[in-house]
Amino acid sequence: HAPGHFRALLEMSRFHGEKEFLVYEDEHITFEEHFRRAATLANRLVTEYGVVKGDRVVVAMRNYPEWVVAFSAALAAGAIAVPLNAWWTEPELAYGVLDCDAKVLIADSERAVRLAATGVPMIVARGEAPEGARSFEDVLGEVGADVTLPDVELSPEDPATIFYTSGTTGHPKGALGSHRNLGQSPMTVAYGLMRAVALAGKDAAAAAGARRVTLLTVPLFHVTGCFSALTTTMFAGGGLVLMYKWDPEQALRLIERERVTTMIGVPTNAWQLMSHPDFGKYDLSSLTTLGYGGAPAPPKLLERIGENLPDRAASNGYGMTETTGLAVGNGGPDYQARPDSIGLPTAVVDVRVVAPTGEELPRGEVGELCVRGPNVIMRYWNKPEPTAQTFVDGWLHTGDLAKIDEDGFVYIVDRAKDMVIRAGENVYCAEVEAAMFEHPAIDDAAVIGIPHDELGEEVGAVVRLKPGTSTTAEELQSFLVERIAKFKIPAHVWFREAELPRNPGGKILKTHLRREVLGG
Ligand code: ATP
Ligand code: MG
Repeated sequence: HAPGHFRALLEMSRFHGEKEFLVYEDEHITFEEHFRRAATLANRLVTEYGVVKGDRVVVAMRNYPEWVVAFSAALAAGAIAVPLNAWWTEPELAYGVLDCDAKVLIADSERAVRLAATGVPMIVARGEAPEGARSFEDVLGEVGADVTLPDVELSPEDPATIFYTSGTTGHPKGALGSHRNLGQSPMTVAYGLMRAVALAGKDAAAAAGARRVTLLTVPLFHVTGCFSALTTTMFAGGGLVLMYKWDPEQALRLIERERVTTMIGVPTNAWQLMSHPDFGKYDLSSLTTLGYGGAPAPPKLLERIGENLPDRAASNGYGMTETTGLAVGNGGPDYQARPDSIGLPTAVVDVRVVAPTGEELPRGEVGELCVRGPNVIMRYWNKPEPTAQTFVDGWLHTGDLAKIDEDGFVYIVDRAKDMVIRAGENVYCAEVEAAMFEHPAIDDAAVIGIPHDELGEEVGAVVRLKPGTSTTAEELQSFLVERIAKFKIPAHVWFREAELPRNPGGKILKTHLRREVLGG
């Protein structure tokens, strides 16, 4: 029978044998070890927890190697793996468990405390298991060399994962992905990275043959971590260096120590890495590729990479939870020539831009970006209404405003929900933010709409300055006059000492900011 895509991937990854797969602090785990642990846990889920095909198994952990074991085991047992956001509080986690109607929870001890009240059977890694729960190592028991995957029949259309969206624009939605959706991810990403390397004038064949060691700077519970980094690494036989949480200094240390070749994360990670005072003290010569996405990357970022990490292949990937990660990507000289573009559709997708009526718009016009392809998920879990609004005639409506140029390059203009409408004129926050990033004192910036009696909305900005710099609202405004139209210039500027609130996906939480500066 046809193996489920993920089972096939897991079995294939075993051929990488004694190569190092996962690195976490001082722990180094080979592909063979990982396979044995995942297969053993898969069997325990079936025999001891009664997991059958289609049951939901929650994974709620930081980026520990056990996350990967739990995710692999759930899928290998034929269950739907449900990674929950490790940053969620007790009620949020309870919502996730209830929403997916979980059969078993596999958590780290910090999450376990917040999950205990759900009453669902729980397996706990890294630390003490609360009353009634069993420890991960205890459930695993003896891990034999001859272990095989439990016998389950799966087809490509069978559901494989529920990933929750980041909740940037509202309540997180469970995105139900199939084995087919998941199965295309390593191909899409490997193709995209190779293309970026080849376009940068490097030997793509050599790069493909060389061992790729990826530093993952974002959580595994979002698609960038799981699909752009994890499944791709399993496919290619590279190494994956995990971090408990993002920390630029730790990242610098790990790049040097593990001879990291590729960093995958969000734009802020690359930005903060280069801004670290000790940036120059580490040997970063192994690093050849920087891949980021998931949030707008200001063109200034590429310029800074050119100055600080010259000769590296940088790439900007656009994707969503609903597209199982990467959907459109830009890299190499293409990216140099169009630093404000997210690039071209990846090998498996079609894109188009439509008017609110649903009609396709001509090149160059701004409308809603729609994506179609084998990476687009089946539907939202338990949410018929958003499903019907988002998936129309085979096209995923992204909620992002975009335009496509004559050569097919895609530009994200803004999120439809972020746009400020000032006296009937559209002001795209992402454009204003990109202009603000040009200012030498700006460390971070977020543009928001502020209610205004006469104009409907006025443009506002919350900024954080780089340490040791200073500027005023007036000075910033006159800096912007040279760059953007007058009506787009923030009339109000708030200076913030602390970092701007971002979710683990690198996105600024504008609802929080709006509440903070406007009250209410
Ligand atoms: P929610 O759907 O719950 O509001 P979310 O849309 O932030 O949250 P994700 O699926 O994690 O959840 O993020 C997808 C969104 O991230 C895209 O719709 C887009 O707005 C943004 N995005 C992703 N990659 C890029 C990129 N390279 N450039 C600009 N924006 C990006
Ligand atoms: Mg979304």
